[in-house]
Amino acid sequence: MSQRVCVVGGGLAGCEAALVLAQWGHEVELCEMKPHKRTPAQASDRLAELVCSNSLRSDNPENAIGLLHEELRRAGSPILAAADLARVPAGDALAVDRERFSGLIEAAIAAHPRITRTAREVTRLPESLAIIATGPLTAPDLAAEISALAGEGLYFYDAIAPIVTAESIDMSIAFAASRWDKGDGADYLSCRSIVPSTRRSCRRCSTPRRSRRTTSRRRGTSRAACRSR
Ligand SMILES: Cc1cc2nc3c(=O)[nH]c(=O)nc-3n(C[C@H](O)[C@H](O)[C@H](O)COP(=O)(O)OP(=O)(O)OC[C@H]3O[C@@H](n4cnc5c(N)ncnc54)[C@H](O)[C@@H]3O)c2cc1C
Repeated sequence: MSQRVCVVGGGLAGCEAALVLAQWGHEVELCEMKPHKRTPAQASDRLAELVCSNSLRSDNPENAIGLLHEELRRAGSPILAAADLARVPAGDALAVDRERFSGLIEAAIAAHPRITRTAREVTRLPESLAIIATGPLTAPDLAAEISALAGEGLYFYDAIAPIVTAESIDMSIAFAASRWDKGDGADYLSCRSIVPSTRRSCRRCSTPRRSRRTTSRRRGTSRAACRSR
């Protein structure tokens, strides 16, 4: 039986839910507050915006994430289908061109006759059948209502990686290489000889850390990265 469902939030989860429900024959209203309002992490007015990394992590079905990708593909996930179309080389990771990825999802939503997109901020939990997919940075009024239902403990902390444009990279310092020797050998840009400055910045970190040094066999140069545990 066809139902009317309100999906709140046009991120990855909301778009996946809207498209799948519509494919199943339900009428969907997708409420996304953009372009009127953005979360602090958003930089575009598109649906399904990847706010940080463009990697959906490993696509190797021999580990848990890659296996989940494969299961989603076989289940007909529209998000995975768009990711596969927007894929860029990234070793064994499923990384996407974020603009193309969002564009594909937005086009699929716009083209679906059973999805109506409404640009509005939802401030109260809907009375009708609804999916709340407003993500970690749910707008404050709705977050307060969810918090009142969920009680204490509704928190989200994360850091965001800056998006660096290709033209701004000094290619006399950076070089193309593989990550962990996966892919065709030139999927990532790395910077050579940054060990001393990496150590200096580690000393300023307040959290325990470890320094990881790897050697690119392809170029015979070394690179280092610092990770907080
Ligand atoms: C700073 C930061 C860095 C992150 N880095 C990564 C990363 O590198 N890799 C990773 O996998 N995940 C990362 N995440 C988590 C990331 O947000 C999720 O992986 C993914 O975006 C979750 O998808 P979602 O659809 O649940 O939420 P979102 O993508 O956040 O989508 C929710 C949508 O709901 C809309 N919305 C919010 N409130 C309302 C409202 N009241 N009414 C209407 N619309 C509303 C928002 O505008 C947004 O479009 C990061 C999150 C943050 C905040």
